[in-house]
Amino acid sequence: MQYAALVGVYRQLASTSKRLEKTRIIAELIKEDSSSEVVLLLQGRVFPNWDDRKIGVASRIVIKAISKASGQPEKEVEQQWKKTGDLGLAAQELFSKKSQSTLFSESLTVKKVYANLTKLASAEGQGAVEQKLNLISQLLTSASPEECRYLTRTVLEDLRVGVGEGSMRDAIVWAFFPEEIELGEDVGNRDKYNEVASAVQEAYDLSNDFSEVAERARQGIEKLRDSALKVGKPLKVMLAIKAKSAEDGLERVGIPAAAEYKLDGFRIQVHKAKSKITLFTRRLEDVTTQFPDVVAVVSKRVTAESCILDCEAVGYSPETKKYLPFQSISQRIRRKYNIEVMAKRFPVELNVFDVLSLNGETLLKSPFKERRKRLESIISPKERELVCVKQKLVTTPKAIDAFFRESLKEGNEGLMLKALDAPYKPGARVGHMVKLKETMENLDLVIIGAEWGEGKRSTWLSSFVVACRDEDGNLLEVGRVSTGLKEKREEGLSYAEMTDLLQPLVISEKGKEVKVKPEIVIEVAYEEIQKSPTYKSGYALRFPRVIRQRTEERGVDDISSLDYVQQLYDAQK
Ligand code: AMP
Repeated sequence: MQYAALVGVYRQLASTSKRLEKTRIIAELIKEDSSSEVVLLLQGRVFPNWDDRKIGVASRIVIKAISKASGQPEKEVEQQWKKTGDLGLAAQELFSKKSQSTLFSESLTVKKVYANLTKLASAEGQGAVEQKLNLISQLLTSASPEECRYLTRTVLEDLRVGVGEGSMRDAIVWAFFPEEIELGEDVGNRDKYNEVASAVQEAYDLSNDFSEVAERARQGIEKLRDSALKVGKPLKVMLAIKAKSAEDGLERVGIPAAAEYKLDGFRIQVHKAKSKITLFTRRLEDVTTQFPDVVAVVSKRVTAESCILDCEAVGYSPETKKYLPFQSISQRIRRKYNIEVMAKRFPVELNVFDVLSLNGETLLKSPFKERRKRLESIISPKERELVCVKQKLVTTPKAIDAFFRESLKEGNEGLMLKALDAPYKPGARVGHMVKLKETMENLDLVIIGAEWGEGKRSTWLSSFVVACRDEDGNLLEVGRVSTGLKEKREEGLSYAEMTDLLQPLVISEKGKEVKVKPEIVIEVAYEEIQKSPTYKSGYALRFPRVIRQRTEERGVDDISSLDYVQQLYDAQK
Protein backbone atom coordinates (compact mmCIF):
# COMPACT_ATOMS: atom_id res chain seq x y z
CA MET A 1 0.00 0.00 0.00
CA GLN A 2 1.16 3.51 -0.75
CA TYR A 3 1.79 5.71 2.29
CA ALA A 4 -0.35 8.38 0.60
CA ALA A 5 -3.38 6.08 0.90
CA LEU A 6 -2.83 5.66 4.63
CA VAL A 7 -2.39 9.41 5.00
CA GLY A 8 -5.72 9.83 3.23
CA VAL A 9 -7.23 7.69 5.96
CA TYR A 10 -5.54 9.77 8.68
CA ARG A 11 -7.02 12.87 7.08
CA GLN A 12 -10.51 11.41 7.05
CA LEU A 13 -10.18 10.24 10.65
CA ALA A 14 -8.93 13.61 11.82
CA SER A 15 -11.85 15.35 10.16
CA THR A 16 -14.55 13.59 12.17
CA SER A 17 -15.17 13.08 15.84
CA LYS A 18 -18.07 10.69 15.26
CA ARG A 19 -17.29 7.25 16.54
CA LEU A 20 -19.38 5.46 13.92
CA GLU A 21 -17.80 7.39 11.10
CA LYS A 22 -14.33 6.57 12.35
CA THR A 23 -15.24 2.90 12.61
CA ARG A 24 -16.44 2.89 9.02
CA ILE A 25 -13.25 4.55 7.76
CA ILE A 26 -11.02 2.07 9.56
CA ALA A 27 -13.17 -0.85 8.39
CA GLU A 28 -12.78 0.19 4.74
CA LEU A 29 -9.02 0.29 5.14
CA ILE A 30 -8.53 -3.05 6.86
CA LYS A 31 -10.85 -4.79 4.46
CA GLU A 32 -8.36 -3.87 1.81
CA ASP A 33 -5.16 -4.33 3.79
CA SER A 34 -4.78 -5.70 7.29
CA SER A 35 -1.04 -6.29 7.21
CA SER A 36 0.66 -5.67 10.51
CA GLU A 37 2.43 -2.57 9.14
CA VAL A 38 -0.86 -0.93 8.20
CA VAL A 39 -2.64 -1.95 11.39
CA LEU A 40 0.16 -0.66 13.62
CA LEU A 41 0.78 2.60 11.77
CA LEU A 42 -2.94 3.26 11.82
CA GLN A 43 -2.72 3.27 15.61
CA GLY A 44 0.36 5.50 15.44
CA ARG A 45 2.68 2.79 16.60
CA VAL A 46 5.46 0.70 15.19
CA PHE A 47 5.52 -2.01 17.84
CA PRO A 48 2.62 -3.95 19.31
CA ASN A 49 1.72 -3.07 22.89
CA TRP A 50 3.59 -5.99 24.37
CA ASP A 51 6.85 -5.03 22.70
CA ASP A 52 8.66 -2.50 24.87
CA ARG A 53 10.72 -0.98 22.08
CA LYS A 54 10.07 2.68 21.45
CA ILE A 55 10.81 4.82 18.40
CA GLY A 56 12.54 7.04 20.96
CA VAL A 57 13.40 10.14 18.93
CA ALA A 58 13.57 13.52 20.66
CA SER A 59 12.03 16.56 19.00
CA ARG A 60 15.54 18.09 18.61
CA ILE A 61 16.50 15.40 16.13
CA VAL A 62 13.23 15.74 14.24
CA ILE A 63 13.82 19.49 13.91
CA LYS A 64 17.26 18.80 12.49
CA ALA A 65 15.83 16.25 10.07
CA ILE A 66 13.12 18.64 8.86
CA SER A 67 15.75 21.31 8.39
CA LYS A 68 18.01 18.98 6.46
CA ALA A 69 15.27 17.65 4.21
CA SER A 70 13.54 20.96 3.55
CA GLY A 71 16.66 23.07 3.21
CA GLN A 72 15.28 25.54 5.76
CA PRO A 73 17.42 26.68 8.69
CA GLU A 74 16.67 25.05 12.06
CA LYS A 75 15.64 28.43 13.44
CA GLU A 76 12.90 28.65 10.85
CA VAL A 77 11.64 25.16 11.79
CA GLU A 78 11.56 26.17 15.44
CA GLN A 79 9.69 29.36 14.68
CA GLN A 80 7.04 27.52 12.71
CA TRP A 81 6.80 25.04 15.56
CA LYS A 82 6.28 27.80 18.11
CA LYS A 83 3.66 29.37 15.86
CA THR A 84 1.59 26.24 15.30
CA GLY A 85 2.42 24.35 18.51
CA ASP A 86 2.63 21.19 16.42
CA LEU A 87 5.82 20.05 14.77
CA GLY A 88 3.81 18.00 12.28
CA LEU A 89 1.96 21.05 11.01
CA ALA A 90 5.18 23.04 10.99
CA ALA A 91 6.74 20.38 8.75
CA GLN A 92 3.79 20.44 6.39
CA GLU A 93 4.01 24.21 6.02
CA LEU A 94 7.76 24.21 5.45
CA PHE A 95 7.61 21.47 2.86
CA SER A 96 4.81 23.21 1.02
CA LYS A 97 7.22 26.09 0.44
CA LYS A 98 9.80 23.84 -1.13
CA SER A 99 10.01 24.13 -4.87
CA GLN A 100 7.88 21.61 -6.75
CA SER A 101 10.68 20.15 -8.86
CA THR A 102 12.43 18.44 -5.99
CA LEU A 103 9.31 16.98 -4.46
CA PHE A 104 8.18 13.35 -4.56
CA SER A 105 11.33 12.03 -6.15
CA GLU A 106 9.92 8.60 -5.34
CA SER A 107 6.59 7.74 -3.84
CA LEU A 108 6.60 6.26 -0.37
CA THR A 109 5.15 2.89 0.52
CA VAL A 110 3.84 1.91 3.93
CA LYS A 111 6.48 -0.82 4.03
CA LYS A 112 9.29 1.68 3.52
CA VAL A 113 7.96 4.01 6.24
CA TYR A 114 7.57 1.10 8.59
CA ALA A 115 11.06 -0.19 7.88
CA ASN A 116 12.71 3.15 8.55
CA LEU A 117 10.74 3.75 11.74
CA THR A 118 11.70 0.32 13.06
CA LYS A 119 15.34 1.06 12.35
CA LEU A 120 15.04 4.26 14.39
CA ALA A 121 14.29 2.22 17.48
CA SER A 122 17.38 0.09 17.08
CA ALA A 123 19.86 2.88 16.28
CA GLU A 124 22.21 2.87 19.24
CA GLY A 125 25.69 3.91 20.31
CA GLN A 126 28.17 5.91 18.27
CA GLY A 127 26.69 7.47 15.17
CA ALA A 128 23.13 6.83 16.34
CA VAL A 129 22.09 10.47 16.07
CA GLU A 130 23.45 10.73 12.54
CA GLN A 131 21.76 7.48 11.60
CA LYS A 132 18.39 8.61 13.00
CA LEU A 133 18.73 11.91 11.21
CA ASN A 134 19.29 10.13 7.93
CA LEU A 135 16.44 7.68 8.39
CA ILE A 136 13.97 10.48 9.08
CA SER A 137 15.13 12.89 6.41
CA GLN A 138 15.17 10.10 3.85
CA LEU A 139 11.46 9.63 4.49
CA LEU A 140 10.72 13.33 4.52
CA THR A 141 12.43 14.00 1.20
CA SER A 142 10.30 11.47 -0.59
CA ALA A 143 7.04 12.55 1.08
CA SER A 144 4.37 15.07 0.12
CA PRO A 145 3.85 17.99 2.55
CA GLU A 146 0.81 16.31 4.07
CA GLU A 147 2.69 13.03 4.41
CA CYS A 148 5.43 14.97 6.20
CA ARG A 149 2.90 16.13 8.76
CA TYR A 150 1.86 12.61 9.72
CA LEU A 151 5.36 11.19 9.42
CA THR A 152 6.60 13.79 11.89
CA ARG A 153 3.83 13.04 14.32
CA THR A 154 4.38 9.30 14.03
CA VAL A 155 8.09 9.68 14.67
CA LEU A 156 7.26 11.72 17.77
CA GLU A 157 4.79 9.01 18.81
CA ASP A 158 2.05 11.62 18.86
CA LEU A 159 -0.20 10.78 15.89
CA ARG A 160 -3.48 11.83 17.46
CA VAL A 161 -6.06 10.51 15.02
CA GLY A 162 -7.95 8.70 17.76
CA VAL A 163 -7.65 5.05 16.84
CA GLY A 164 -7.66 2.97 19.99
CA GLU A 165 -8.34 -0.65 20.82
CA GLY A 166 -12.08 -0.05 20.97
CA SER A 167 -12.29 1.34 17.45
CA MET A 168 -10.02 -1.35 16.03
CA ARG A 169 -12.24 -4.04 17.50
CA ASP A 170 -15.43 -2.45 16.16
CA ALA A 171 -13.88 -1.87 12.76
CA ILE A 172 -12.98 -5.54 12.42
CA VAL A 173 -16.63 -6.39 13.09
CA TRP A 174 -17.79 -3.83 10.51
CA ALA A 175 -15.27 -4.95 7.95
CA PHE A 176 -15.86 -8.67 8.01
CA PHE A 177 -19.41 -9.32 9.26
CA PRO A 178 -21.56 -6.61 7.66
CA GLU A 179 -24.24 -8.92 6.30
CA GLU A 180 -24.64 -11.16 9.31
CA ILE A 181 -25.15 -8.18 11.56
CA GLU A 182 -27.21 -6.29 9.02
CA LEU A 183 -24.94 -3.30 9.22
CA GLY A 184 -26.22 -0.32 7.33
CA GLU A 185 -26.48 3.12 8.77
CA ASP A 186 -26.52 1.42 12.12
CA VAL A 187 -26.39 -2.00 13.77
CA GLY A 188 -29.35 -4.14 12.75
CA ASN A 189 -28.97 -7.32 14.79
CA ARG A 190 -27.66 -6.28 18.23
CA ASP A 191 -27.33 -9.79 19.63
CA LYS A 192 -25.30 -10.96 16.70
CA TYR A 193 -23.20 -7.81 16.93
CA ASN A 194 -22.40 -8.44 20.60
CA GLU A 195 -21.55 -12.05 19.87
CA VAL A 196 -19.11 -11.17 17.10
CA ALA A 197 -17.63 -8.21 19.00
CA SER A 198 -16.84 -10.38 21.98
CA ALA A 199 -15.30 -13.06 19.72
CA VAL A 200 -13.06 -10.34 18.25
CA GLN A 201 -12.19 -9.04 21.71
CA GLU A 202 -11.39 -12.52 23.00
CA ALA A 203 -9.21 -13.28 20.01
CA TYR A 204 -7.36 -10.02 20.63
CA ASP A 205 -6.91 -10.69 24.34
CA LEU A 206 -5.17 -13.92 23.42
CA SER A 207 -2.98 -12.68 20.58
CA ASN A 208 -2.58 -8.94 21.23
CA ASP A 209 -2.28 -8.57 17.52
CA PHE A 210 -5.08 -6.91 15.53
CA SER A 211 -3.50 -7.92 12.27
CA GLU A 212 -3.81 -11.58 13.21
CA VAL A 213 -7.37 -11.05 14.49
CA ALA A 214 -8.37 -9.36 11.22
CA GLU A 215 -6.92 -12.21 9.18
CA ARG A 216 -8.94 -14.71 11.22
CA ALA A 217 -12.10 -12.60 10.99
CA ARG A 218 -11.67 -12.50 7.22
CA GLN A 219 -12.02 -16.29 7.28
CA GLY A 220 -15.16 -16.27 9.43
CA ILE A 221 -16.35 -16.52 12.99
CA GLU A 222 -15.22 -20.12 13.48
CA LYS A 223 -11.67 -19.27 12.64
CA LEU A 224 -11.90 -16.33 15.01
CA ARG A 225 -13.07 -18.53 17.85
CA ASP A 226 -10.28 -20.93 17.05
CA SER A 227 -7.68 -18.45 18.32
CA ALA A 228 -5.51 -20.47 20.62
CA LEU A 229 -3.10 -19.79 23.37
CA LYS A 230 0.49 -20.22 22.36
CA VAL A 231 3.16 -20.94 24.91
CA GLY A 232 5.81 -18.26 24.41
CA LYS A 233 3.36 -15.60 23.27
CA PRO A 234 2.03 -13.41 26.09
CA LEU A 235 -1.68 -12.93 26.68
CA LYS A 236 -3.35 -10.20 28.67
CA VAL A 237 -3.79 -10.90 32.34
CA MET A 238 -7.09 -10.98 34.19
CA LEU A 239 -7.66 -7.88 36.29
CA ALA A 240 -9.30 -7.36 39.65
CA ILE A 241 -11.98 -4.98 40.76
CA LYS A 242 -12.14 -3.43 44.17
CA ALA A 243 -14.55 -4.65 46.82
CA LYS A 244 -15.84 -2.11 49.31
CA SER A 245 -15.92 -4.60 52.14
CA ALA A 246 -15.71 -8.28 52.94
CA GLU A 247 -19.50 -8.56 52.52
CA ASP A 248 -19.38 -6.83 49.18
CA GLY A 249 -16.54 -9.11 48.11
CA LEU A 250 -18.42 -12.26 49.00
CA GLU A 251 -21.48 -11.02 47.20
CA ARG A 252 -19.48 -10.50 44.05
CA VAL A 253 -17.57 -13.80 43.92
CA GLY A 254 -20.02 -16.10 45.70
CA ILE A 255 -19.78 -18.42 48.70
CA PRO A 256 -17.56 -20.20 49.36
CA ALA A 257 -14.79 -18.01 47.95
CA ALA A 258 -11.08 -18.57 47.64
CA ALA A 259 -9.23 -15.95 49.68
CA GLU A 260 -5.57 -15.37 48.91
CA TYR A 261 -2.86 -13.07 50.18
CA LYS A 262 -2.61 -9.95 48.01
CA LEU A 263 1.13 -9.67 47.72
CA ASP A 264 2.89 -6.39 47.07
CA GLY A 265 5.14 -7.41 44.25
CA PHE A 266 4.69 -7.37 40.49
CA ARG A 267 2.92 -9.63 38.10
CA ILE A 268 4.88 -12.13 36.04
CA GLN A 269 3.48 -14.44 33.40
CA VAL A 270 5.68 -17.49 33.08
CA HIS A 271 5.77 -19.44 29.82
CA LYS A 272 7.52 -22.80 29.93
CA ALA A 273 8.02 -24.89 26.82
CA LYS A 274 10.33 -27.74 27.85
CA SER A 275 13.60 -26.03 28.73
CA LYS A 276 12.68 -22.69 27.18
CA ILE A 277 11.33 -20.34 29.83
CA THR A 278 10.07 -16.85 29.05
CA LEU A 279 8.87 -14.22 31.52
CA PHE A 280 6.49 -11.38 30.75
CA THR A 281 5.29 -8.45 32.84
CA ARG A 282 1.69 -7.38 33.14
CA ARG A 283 2.49 -5.00 30.26
CA LEU A 284 3.51 -8.07 28.27
CA GLU A 285 7.13 -7.02 28.12
CA ASP A 286 9.68 -9.78 27.95
CA VAL A 287 11.81 -9.59 31.11
CA THR A 288 13.46 -13.01 30.87
CA THR A 289 16.99 -11.61 30.86
CA GLN A 290 16.37 -9.45 33.90
CA PHE A 291 15.33 -12.41 36.05
CA PRO A 292 17.74 -15.36 35.57
CA ASP A 293 17.01 -16.33 39.20
CA VAL A 294 13.30 -16.75 38.42
CA VAL A 295 14.07 -18.75 35.28
CA ALA A 296 16.25 -21.07 37.39
CA VAL A 297 13.59 -21.72 40.06
CA VAL A 298 10.89 -22.26 37.45
CA SER A 299 13.01 -24.84 35.71
CA LYS A 300 13.70 -26.55 39.05
CA ARG A 301 10.28 -26.31 40.72
CA VAL A 302 7.70 -26.47 37.93
CA THR A 303 7.39 -30.08 36.86
CA ALA A 304 5.13 -29.62 33.82
CA GLU A 305 6.61 -30.09 30.34
CA SER A 306 4.88 -26.98 29.12
CA CYS A 307 2.61 -24.44 30.80
CA ILE A 308 1.61 -20.80 31.25
CA LEU A 309 1.49 -19.56 34.84
CA ASP A 310 0.16 -16.34 36.35
CA CYS A 311 2.28 -15.20 39.28
CA GLU A 312 3.31 -12.40 41.58
CA ALA A 313 7.05 -11.95 42.21
CA VAL A 314 7.69 -10.53 45.67
CA GLY A 315 10.93 -9.03 46.90
CA TYR A 316 12.37 -10.09 50.24
CA SER A 317 15.29 -9.04 52.35
CA PRO A 318 18.30 -11.36 51.87
CA GLU A 319 19.11 -10.90 55.59
CA THR A 320 15.79 -11.17 57.41
CA LYS A 321 13.98 -13.06 54.62
CA LYS A 322 10.94 -10.81 55.27
CA TYR A 323 8.87 -9.49 52.35
CA LEU A 324 9.73 -6.01 51.09
CA PRO A 325 7.41 -3.52 49.38
CA PHE A 326 7.34 -3.43 45.60
CA GLN A 327 9.54 -0.31 45.31
CA SER A 328 12.56 -2.23 46.59
CA ILE A 329 12.62 -4.52 43.56
CA SER A 330 11.12 -2.24 40.91
CA GLN A 331 14.58 -1.31 39.65
CA ARG A 332 15.19 -4.89 38.53
CA ILE A 333 12.50 -4.73 35.84
CA ARG A 334 14.37 -2.39 33.48
CA ARG A 335 17.86 -3.34 34.47
CA LYS A 336 20.22 -4.06 31.57
CA TYR A 337 23.56 -4.68 33.33
CA ASN A 338 24.88 -6.20 36.58
CA ILE A 339 21.87 -8.45 36.49
CA GLU A 340 23.40 -11.26 38.56
CA VAL A 341 24.47 -8.82 41.29
CA MET A 342 21.00 -7.29 41.41
CA ALA A 343 19.40 -10.73 41.67
CA LYS A 344 21.50 -11.45 44.79
CA ARG A 345 20.86 -8.05 46.35
CA PHE A 346 17.14 -7.97 45.60
CA PRO A 347 15.96 -11.57 45.55
CA VAL A 348 12.35 -12.42 44.74
CA GLU A 349 10.03 -15.25 45.62
CA LEU A 350 7.68 -16.39 42.86
CA ASN A 351 4.10 -16.84 44.10
CA VAL A 352 2.05 -18.73 41.52
CA PHE A 353 -1.70 -18.27 41.63
CA ASP A 354 -3.04 -19.58 38.32
CA VAL A 355 -2.33 -21.91 35.42
CA LEU A 356 -3.72 -21.01 32.00
CA SER A 357 -2.36 -23.76 29.85
CA LEU A 358 -0.88 -27.12 30.76
CA ASN A 359 0.92 -29.60 28.52
CA GLY A 360 -0.88 -28.36 25.43
CA GLU A 361 -4.32 -28.12 27.04
CA THR A 362 -5.93 -24.68 27.34
CA LEU A 363 -7.43 -24.17 30.79
CA LEU A 364 -8.96 -20.70 30.38
CA LYS A 365 -12.48 -22.08 30.45
CA SER A 366 -11.94 -24.50 33.35
CA PRO A 367 -13.27 -23.32 36.72
CA PHE A 368 -10.75 -21.70 39.03
CA LYS A 369 -10.89 -24.48 41.65
CA GLU A 370 -9.96 -26.98 38.96
CA ARG A 371 -7.10 -24.80 37.76
CA ARG A 372 -5.78 -24.42 41.30
CA LYS A 373 -5.80 -28.20 41.73
CA ARG A 374 -3.89 -28.69 38.49
CA LEU A 375 -1.49 -25.97 39.56
CA GLU A 376 -0.69 -27.63 42.87
CA SER A 377 0.05 -30.85 41.03
CA ILE A 378 2.86 -29.33 38.98
CA ILE A 379 4.63 -27.30 41.67
CA SER A 380 7.25 -28.55 44.01
CA PRO A 381 7.21 -25.59 46.41
CA LYS A 382 10.00 -24.09 48.48
CA GLU A 383 9.70 -20.90 50.49
CA ARG A 384 11.62 -17.90 49.21
CA GLU A 385 12.02 -19.64 45.86
CA LEU A 386 8.67 -20.66 44.38
CA VAL A 387 5.34 -21.38 46.09
CA CYS A 388 1.62 -21.46 45.35
CA VAL A 389 -0.04 -18.36 46.79
CA LYS A 390 -1.42 -19.02 50.26
CA GLN A 391 -5.13 -19.75 49.86
CA LYS A 392 -8.04 -20.40 52.21
CA LEU A 393 -11.67 -21.17 51.48
CA VAL A 394 -13.90 -18.65 53.25
CA THR A 395 -17.63 -18.41 53.77
CA THR A 396 -18.09 -15.48 56.18
CA PRO A 397 -16.98 -11.86 56.47
CA LYS A 398 -15.55 -12.74 59.88
CA ALA A 399 -13.24 -15.36 58.43
CA ILE A 400 -12.18 -12.89 55.76
CA ASP A 401 -11.36 -10.21 58.34
CA ALA A 402 -9.18 -12.60 60.32
CA PHE A 403 -7.30 -13.72 57.18
CA PHE A 404 -7.02 -10.09 56.06
CA ARG A 405 -5.31 -9.09 59.31
CA GLU A 406 -2.99 -12.09 59.10
CA SER A 407 -2.06 -11.05 55.56
CA LEU A 408 -1.27 -7.46 56.60
CA LYS A 409 0.87 -8.76 59.45
CA GLU A 410 2.91 -10.76 56.95
CA GLY A 411 3.66 -7.51 55.10
CA ASN A 412 1.10 -7.91 52.30
CA GLU A 413 -1.34 -5.37 50.86
CA GLY A 414 -4.57 -7.19 51.71
CA LEU A 415 -6.53 -10.05 50.19
CA MET A 416 -7.83 -11.21 46.86
CA LEU A 417 -11.17 -13.02 46.76
CA LYS A 418 -11.77 -15.30 43.79
CA ALA A 419 -14.81 -17.06 42.41
CA LEU A 420 -14.27 -20.83 42.54
CA ASP A 421 -16.29 -21.63 39.43
CA ALA A 422 -15.12 -18.79 37.20
CA PRO A 423 -13.11 -19.07 33.99
CA TYR A 424 -9.98 -17.01 33.37
CA LYS A 425 -10.83 -13.89 31.35
CA PRO A 426 -7.72 -12.37 29.78
CA GLY A 427 -7.62 -8.59 29.86
CA ALA A 428 -10.90 -8.22 31.66
CA ARG A 429 -12.02 -6.75 34.95
CA VAL A 430 -15.09 -8.94 35.22
CA GLY A 431 -15.31 -9.41 38.94
CA HIS A 432 -14.19 -13.06 39.09
CA MET A 433 -11.46 -11.72 41.29
CA VAL A 434 -11.81 -8.80 43.67
CA LYS A 435 -9.30 -7.10 45.90
CA LEU A 436 -9.65 -5.97 49.47
CA LYS A 437 -7.25 -3.27 50.52
CA GLU A 438 -7.21 -0.96 53.48
CA THR A 439 -6.26 2.23 51.78
CA MET A 440 -8.13 4.54 49.46
CA GLU A 441 -7.80 3.37 45.89
CA ASN A 442 -5.06 5.30 44.12
CA LEU A 443 -5.09 6.02 40.41
CA ASP A 444 -2.44 5.21 37.85
CA LEU A 445 -2.23 8.20 35.55
CA VAL A 446 0.00 9.29 32.72
CA ILE A 447 1.72 12.65 32.62
CA ILE A 448 0.76 14.59 29.47
CA GLY A 449 2.04 18.04 30.40
CA ALA A 450 3.99 19.95 33.02
CA GLU A 451 4.93 23.41 34.15
CA TRP A 452 8.32 24.87 35.06
CA GLY A 453 8.53 26.02 38.69
CA GLU A 454 9.13 29.44 40.17
CA GLY A 455 12.10 30.79 42.12
CA LYS A 456 14.33 28.07 43.44
CA ARG A 457 12.29 25.53 41.53
CA SER A 458 12.77 27.25 38.21
CA THR A 459 15.06 24.50 36.86
CA TRP A 460 12.50 21.85 37.66
CA LEU A 461 9.24 20.84 36.14
CA SER A 462 7.16 21.10 39.27
CA SER A 463 3.52 20.66 38.38
CA PHE A 464 2.19 17.83 36.26
CA VAL A 465 -0.91 17.47 34.16
CA VAL A 466 -2.21 13.93 34.55
CA ALA A 467 -4.70 11.97 32.48
CA CYS A 468 -6.74 8.77 32.51
CA ARG A 469 -7.91 7.01 29.32
CA ASP A 470 -11.22 6.27 27.70
CA GLU A 471 -12.14 3.09 25.88
CA ASP A 472 -10.52 4.33 22.68
CA GLY A 473 -7.27 5.18 24.33
CA ASN A 474 -7.89 8.93 24.27
CA LEU A 475 -6.13 10.57 27.17
CA LEU A 476 -8.34 12.77 29.31
CA GLU A 477 -7.07 15.19 31.94
CA VAL A 478 -8.13 14.65 35.53
CA GLY A 479 -6.05 17.31 37.16
CA ARG A 480 -2.68 18.71 38.06
CA VAL A 481 -0.44 17.31 40.73
CA SER A 482 2.49 19.13 42.29
CA THR A 483 3.06 17.53 45.69
CA GLY A 484 4.46 14.24 46.84
CA LEU A 485 7.83 14.66 45.13
CA LYS A 486 11.01 15.30 47.09
CA GLU A 487 13.27 18.36 46.94
CA LYS A 488 16.42 16.26 47.26
CA ARG A 489 17.32 13.36 45.01
CA GLU A 490 18.49 11.22 47.96
CA GLU A 491 15.07 11.31 49.53
CA GLY A 492 13.22 9.41 46.82
CA LEU A 493 11.38 10.38 43.67
CA SER A 494 12.41 14.03 43.32
CA TYR A 495 11.43 16.96 41.13
CA ALA A 496 14.91 16.80 39.59
CA GLU A 497 14.50 13.13 38.68
CA MET A 498 11.03 13.74 37.26
CA THR A 499 12.43 16.64 35.21
CA ASP A 500 15.14 14.33 33.83
CA LEU A 501 12.49 11.81 32.87
CA LEU A 502 10.17 14.30 31.20
CA GLN A 503 12.55 16.64 29.43
CA PRO A 504 13.40 14.28 26.56
CA LEU A 505 9.67 13.73 26.03
CA VAL A 506 8.76 17.37 25.51
CA ILE A 507 6.69 17.83 22.33
CA SER A 508 5.91 21.53 22.59
CA GLU A 509 6.54 24.46 24.86
CA LYS A 510 4.51 27.58 25.49
CA GLY A 511 5.66 29.98 28.22
CA LYS A 512 6.18 27.84 31.29
CA GLU A 513 3.90 25.09 30.07
CA VAL A 514 5.18 22.04 28.23
CA LYS A 515 3.37 19.21 26.56
CA VAL A 516 5.02 15.80 26.81
CA LYS A 517 4.73 12.46 25.11
CA PRO A 518 2.52 10.32 27.31
CA GLU A 519 4.96 7.77 28.70
CA ILE A 520 5.57 8.40 32.38
CA VAL A 521 2.98 6.69 34.55
CA ILE A 522 2.59 7.71 38.17
CA GLU A 523 0.44 6.49 41.02
CA VAL A 524 -1.56 9.36 42.43
CA ALA A 525 -3.37 9.51 45.78
CA TYR A 526 -6.10 12.07 46.53
CA GLU A 527 -8.65 13.08 49.11
CA GLU A 528 -11.67 12.96 46.88
CA ILE A 529 -12.84 12.80 43.27
CA GLN A 530 -15.03 15.73 42.24
CA LYS A 531 -17.05 16.51 39.11
CA SER A 532 -15.33 19.22 37.14
CA PRO A 533 -16.03 21.17 33.97
CA THR A 534 -12.37 22.25 33.80
CA TYR A 535 -10.93 18.94 32.75
CA LYS A 536 -11.75 16.86 29.71
CA SER A 537 -12.50 13.77 31.80
CA GLY A 538 -15.26 15.66 33.60
CA TYR A 539 -13.59 14.86 36.93
CA ALA A 540 -10.94 16.48 39.11
CA LEU A 541 -8.86 15.15 41.98
CA ARG A 542 -8.91 17.05 45.25
CA PHE A 543 -5.49 17.32 46.93
CA PRO A 544 -3.70 14.92 44.60
CA ARG A 545 -0.18 13.78 45.47
CA VAL A 546 2.37 11.63 43.70
CA ILE A 547 2.99 8.29 45.42
CA ARG A 548 5.49 6.72 43.04
CA GLN A 549 6.56 6.27 39.48
CA ARG A 550 5.19 3.13 37.84
CA THR A 551 6.50 3.28 34.29
CA GLU A 552 8.40 0.02 34.84
CA GLU A 553 5.19 -1.98 35.19
CA ARG A 554 2.49 0.17 33.65
CA GLY A 555 2.27 1.64 30.20
CA VAL A 556 -0.18 4.13 28.81
CA ASP A 557 -2.46 1.20 27.98
CA ASP A 558 -2.65 0.19 31.63
CA ILE A 559 -3.51 3.48 33.26
CA SER A 560 -6.81 3.93 35.09
CA SER A 561 -9.77 4.19 32.76
CA LEU A 562 -12.43 6.86 32.79
CA ASP A 563 -14.90 4.12 33.71
CA TYR A 564 -12.84 3.33 36.74
CA VAL A 565 -12.67 6.98 37.82
CA GLN A 566 -16.45 7.10 37.47
CA GLN A 567 -16.80 3.94 39.55
CA LEU A 568 -14.62 5.38 42.31
CA TYR A 569 -16.57 8.62 42.18
CA ASP A 570 -19.83 6.70 42.58
CA ALA A 571 -18.41 4.57 45.38
CA GLN A 572 -17.60 7.70 47.42
CA LYS A 573 -21.20 8.62 47.74
P1 AMP B 1 -4.16 -3.81 41.66
O1 AMP B 1 -2.81 -3.64 41.04
O2 AMP B 1 -4.33 -3.06 42.94
O3 AMP B 1 -5.28 -3.64 40.67
O4 AMP B 1 -4.28 -5.33 42.15
C1 AMP B 1 -4.17 -6.42 41.25
C2 AMP B 1 -2.76 -6.95 41.27
O5 AMP B 1 -2.46 -7.58 42.51
C3 AMP B 1 -2.53 -8.04 40.27
O6 AMP B 1 -2.25 -7.50 39.00
C4 AMP B 1 -1.32 -8.78 40.83
O7 AMP B 1 -0.13 -8.19 40.34
C5 AMP B 1 -1.39 -8.50 42.33
N1 AMP B 1 -1.63 -9.68 43.16
C6 AMP B 1 -1.08 -9.86 44.37
N2 AMP B 1 -1.49 -11.01 44.93
C7 AMP B 1 -2.33 -11.61 44.04
C8 AMP B 1 -3.09 -12.82 44.06
N3 AMP B 1 -3.07 -13.66 45.08
N4 AMP B 1 -3.85 -13.07 42.96
C9 AMP B 1 -3.91 -12.23 41.92
N5 AMP B 1 -3.21 -11.07 41.86
C10 AMP B 1 -2.43 -10.76 42.91
